[in-house]
Amino acid sequence: MLNIILFGPPGAGKGTQSEKLIAHYNLVHLSTGDIFRANIKGETELGQLAKSYMEKGQLVPDEVTIRMLESEVNKHSSAKGFIFDGFPRTQAQAEALDNLLKSKNTSISKMLALEVEEGELKKRLLLRGKDSGRADDQAPSVIQKRIDVYNNETAPVKDFYGKQNKYCGVNGIGEIDVIFNALCKTIDSI
Ligand code: ADP
Repeated sequence: MLNIILFGPPGAGKGTQSEKLIAHYNLVHLSTGDIFRANIKGETELGQLAKSYMEKGQLVPDEVTIRMLESEVNKHSSAKGFIFDGFPRTQAQAEALDNLLKSKNTSISKMLALEVEEGELKKRLLLRGKDSGRADDQAPSVIQKRIDVYNNETAPVKDFYGKQNKYCGVNGIGEIDVIFNALCKTIDSI
């Protein structure tokens, strides 16, 4: 199996690149943010809970997020592999993912991290807020909170995969296709 974590701060381009990668490598895309948003739209219990955290720019609690991710992975028993987008965002999530994959006799192949500096992220998120109307991309204070949460809680997950020699940083600034080619080159060298 090819199991890729597409990592990076909010606004780094994970969603855009995931769409291209799943088509190219025939993988299943699991975006925890997208799944939460679908639950909010469908007015499920999970959606209601997630919304209260997302609108403040906070992480949804690990226990809830991990349970949801596990059930999504289990839905795709014949997948060739996965792109994990927006997960893991904490050390506990990374440990849970490792254990889940181990129980299926597989593992993470690589963590690819899109590197984009903070000023550019804020510009992109505000623009997305205007274009898509996404609730958490509207207020500069919520955007700042998400970037702070990323720096404090999520960025350390890099070390978890670094220690396993699975971390690879990729420049996330420039043309979409140039970034895509750089990601493919890394994946093809696995
Ligand atoms: P972005 O990367 O632009 O912040 P996402 O769509 O990945 O957007 O996530 C939006 C929000 O969903 C996050 O700010 C957080 O509240 C929640 N979320 C998504 N993934 C996770 C996760 N793995 N753990 C906890 N909360 C999450």
